[in-house]
Amino acid sequence: MKDTKSGLKTGDLACKISDTICLPDSKLPRVVIIGGGFAGLTLVEKLKHKEVQVILFDKNNFHQFQPLLYQVATSALEPDSIVFPFRKQINGYKNIVFRLAEVEEIQASSNTVVTNKGKVHYDYLVLATGTTTNFFGMDAVEQNSLGMKDIRDSLNIRHMMLQNLEQAAITCDDDERDALTNFVIVGGGPAGVEMAGALAEFCKYILPKDYPEYPASIMNIYLVEASGELLGAMSDKASVKTLKYLGNLGVEVLLNESVTDYDGREVRTKSDKLILARNLIWTAGVKGQFPKGIDEKYLVRGNRLKTDSYLKVEGYENIFAIGDIAAIITEETPKGHPQVAQTAIQQGKYLGNSILNIINNKPIKYFKYKDKGSLATVGKRKAVADIGTFKFGGYFAWLLWSIVHLMSISGFRNRLMVGFNWAVSYFTYEKSNRLIIRNFKKPATTSEESKKSNIKTLEKNTVQ
Ligand SMILES: Cc1cc2nc3c(=O)[nH]c(=O)nc-3n(C[C@H](O)[C@H](O)[C@H](O)COP(=O)(O)OP(=O)(O)OC[C@H]3O[C@@H](n4cnc5c(N)ncnc54)[C@H](O)[C@@H]3O)c2cc1C
Repeated sequence: MKDTKSGLKTGDLACKISDTICLPDSKLPRVVIIGGGFAGLTLVEKLKHKEVQVILFDKNNFHQFQPLLYQVATSALEPDSIVFPFRKQINGYKNIVFRLAEVEEIQASSNTVVTNKGKVHYDYLVLATGTTTNFFGMDAVEQNSLGMKDIRDSLNIRHMMLQNLEQAAITCDDDERDALTNFVIVGGGPAGVEMAGALAEFCKYILPKDYPEYPASIMNIYLVEASGELLGAMSDKASVKTLKYLGNLGVEVLLNESVTDYDGREVRTKSDKLILARNLIWTAGVKGQFPKGIDEKYLVRGNRLKTDSYLKVEGYENIFAIGDIAAIITEETPKGHPQVAQTAIQQGKYLGNSILNIINNKPIKYFKYKDKGSLATVGKRKAVADIGTFKFGGYFAWLLWSIVHLMSISGFRNRLMVGFNWAVSYFTYEKSNRLIIRNFKKPATTSEESKKSNIKTLEKNTVQ
């Protein structure tokens, strides 16, 4: 082994013929994991210090805690409280290697993944690539609204919101001021409900202090849901309570309604309503994302990969899928398991054991999901909970939600920061992170002329 100028031993960083990304030399079976979300990172934890070489690829150098993205978006938390660097996570794990790269293609016939930085050979491949926002083919909505799937989206929402509130203070045009201070959130699942609740709290406690020139009523929040209830995956009790809590916070919930078009200023709905809003946040759907190369005949609803009960992708011998991207379709789970953190974590743990058993020629059991319950918060001090047969809401549910989320965040420092921020905000109702650090620019909207003509229609049809 020869020492190089950089101090590395050349033998430590050897590339096989099929690899163009430098990796430590190893005779151990190689497991390549694409994606360090809840599923991928749990799998990494399960395989640490084991007789396998693990290569973790992610297009970001950090893990993100998606359930609290809405708190970054509404200035309650700083981004570094809910993201955690992979390299810090794997510190001291000698058999785990992280490479910052986006995997672009899977060449299953040669057991190779192609990334934007080079190629790597695998013995076992695990897809843990999660989902991306689904705009259901509505290009105008996609172009003009913001999704909430990662930390950049959250920061975009925060900047859009703060900039629009500042712009509203400048403008003398009443319609434009309305548009700048109105918010439409599309999708009444947990992400939409939590975002609507947090915005309503912002409107109630922050707006009157920061913008004393406006009444709090200037900021209208609409939550649009296509079905007849909020939190459709939870109990009826949770849906009804959520509707009541949001109503008390002043959120206007539009059920059995959907957004059909948006030009950046005017939101059109299925029932021909027109809402003026320069802030549209889309949480109405997700679709699976994964590199090309997987046979499309194995895709199921929501662009998920159909796997067998052992999480092996149909049609492949050594390719597995876990988390949001995976769908075990059986009579018991015709739509696959719920796309939530618990599923991803349980599948990551399960697959870690399975891969080790496969390598050691031991029998493997099929994956069994254990539903630990669902929680969703609605503003501060209120939440709904479905835990087994217990369905409840209110302050106790909110306390439970806070503890569960705090304990789930990666890293002691992050837990401390989030806990501290929450404690301060609990007593002061303050959100201290209202800084416009970068200039967020939304794509251009329709021409001034068409805007003027639409305002006439708006006077007749607006829901405000
Ligand atoms: C706003 C929001 C709120 C939520 N709230 C809750 C909640 O309260 N409770 C709950 O249980 N669940 C919640 N969820 C769902 C939960 O976050 C997901 O179920 C979970 O993150 C899925 O984990 P995963 O590992 O499958 O995917 P993800 O966590 O999405 O991770 C996928 C990873 O893959 C990486 N990646 C993707 N493609 C590539 C590629 N080609 N190359 C390299 N890297 C790639 C990504 O960078 C990412 O790190 C929420 C989700 C959102 C968006």
